[in-house]
Amino acid sequence: MASVQDGYRLHYHNSMLSFWVVLMLHLLHTLLHLIQSVLVPFCLVMAWVFSLLLTWSLVAATKNGIAQARKLHQIPCAHCQFFTRDYRLKCTVHPTTALSEAAIGCLDYQPETSLYYAGSQAERLS
Ligand code: SF4
Repeated sequence: MASVQDGYRLHYHNSMLSFWVVLMLHLLHTLLHLIQSVLVPFCLVMAWVFSLLLTWSLVAATKNGIAQARKLHQIPCAHCQFFTRDYRLKCTVHPTTALSEAAIGCLDYQPETSLYYAGSQAERLS
């Protein structure tokens, strides 16, 4: 059976507990308020940094893609008379370098419109 002293002790214990809970909540509220005043500008700066990095990355990727496309368009093989259009033997003169960046500036390049090519085409057709 609980005595009056036990009741007072329990009441005292509950009061101290609620005091500490209120104190902790108050401290937490103050801490959150302080963090919030720093967190908002920090998030704003981070959002801008992220946006700028994303834009910079997209611009760099686009520039790289354009540079690579320009370089690939310099490969002359598609208009060369030695290009066979057969994947097994792409070129009769330089089979290993045909259609690659190594073929840029190829010294054996002969345009399909050359007289020799027209003559060989006529020979082939006859
Ligand atoms: S000769 Fe040179 S340019 Fe012509 S297909 Fe062969 S590698 Fe390409």
